[in-house]
Amino acid sequence: MDGSILPGRTSDWFDRLSEIEPLEDADFDAALVAEMQRAAPALRDRPIRFSTPTFKEYETGELAGCGKNSFPAFSITAGGCALMCDHCQASILEPMIPATSPEMLDRKVRDLVLLQDLQGFLLSGGSNRRNEIAYERYYPVIEGLKRDFPHLKIAIHSALLDERRARLMESAGVDTAMMDVIGAQETIEQVYHLDRPVDDFEATLAALCSTSMEVVPHIVAGLHYGRLLGEANALDICSRHPIHALVLVVIMPFYAKAGTFETPDTAAIGRLFVEARRRIPDRQVLLGCARPAGMHKRTTDAYAVMAGLDGIAFPADGAVAVAEAIGRPMEQQHACCSIKVGGETVAVPASCAA
Ligand code: SF4
Repeated sequence: MDGSILPGRTSDWFDRLSEIEPLEDADFDAALVAEMQRAAPALRDRPIRFSTPTFKEYETGELAGCGKNSFPAFSITAGGCALMCDHCQASILEPMIPATSPEMLDRKVRDLVLLQDLQGFLLSGGSNRRNEIAYERYYPVIEGLKRDFPHLKIAIHSALLDERRARLMESAGVDTAMMDVIGAQETIEQVYHLDRPVDDFEATLAALCSTSMEVVPHIVAGLHYGRLLGEANALDICSRHPIHALVLVVIMPFYAKAGTFETPDTAAIGRLFVEARRRIPDRQVLLGCARPAGMHKRTTDAYAVMAGLDGIAFPADGAVAVAEAIGRPMEQQHACCSIKVGGETVAVPASCAA
């Protein structure tokens, strides 16, 4: 990834973008693209992984349906959530499979192992007013499932917790813990309606990182009603702990209360990618599947490729061409609703990491 000139191409990334048909009408920030090009030599030969499913629903953005078969998400509260954050209002729980009792989870997982060769699952749920999810009664079932099917990869949306509860999660056999890291107090109070400090999010991350679980925090760009506010602080928090990987997603105003969220500026998202790459140089930084569609997504994905992120879930048209145009080595992974993290494939659904 040295920005070398390919035959017949200009040396300037900004000019090369204009030759890519799906990006013809994209509105790139020339200064930002130039900044990404200048930083490229430091990221030399770092490959990018495009995670794409092999079936047609991908074309239509039908993500929930595909996620159910390969790496389904279960909600222990079905569609219920006491927080009702402004950006989500529990809508993210709707496509998840209800598992409102440990027995229900056990039965459904065992059925899926037999019928669909299940490789793993995500356990999630709505949270209480303190942004906590009470998973404890599910741990004996998780232990049993891991004992009977050691190949199963189990991921969990941790929500907020302390060290004791992180250790219980680890002892049950959970492989991967995910949480949203929020860096602005205003966002916690106004968007989440939550009376807890930013420090509690960092304490949760620290507690998870003190275990042997793979910890994959998420940062939602534009969580503050479509504006970027606490993302830089969230990056700082993530950079201070031995996380396994970082997933960036972009707010989807579609799920929010009508008229309350704007669609974040793509250049602001691109700058966040640059910052994320700079502050977390030694671990995987991935673009997860939640982001606005259309030209916004094409532009966002092009920035992700140019900023040196390590992977993109469900890349938009043009992303592969951008990688080719700037000489980034790439890999394609046919996987559904998942991103390969390290040697393993874990689910990174378009969802709340509560
Ligand atoms: S983001 Fe999580 S906690 Fe907030 S409403 Fe959605 S499910 Fe509930």
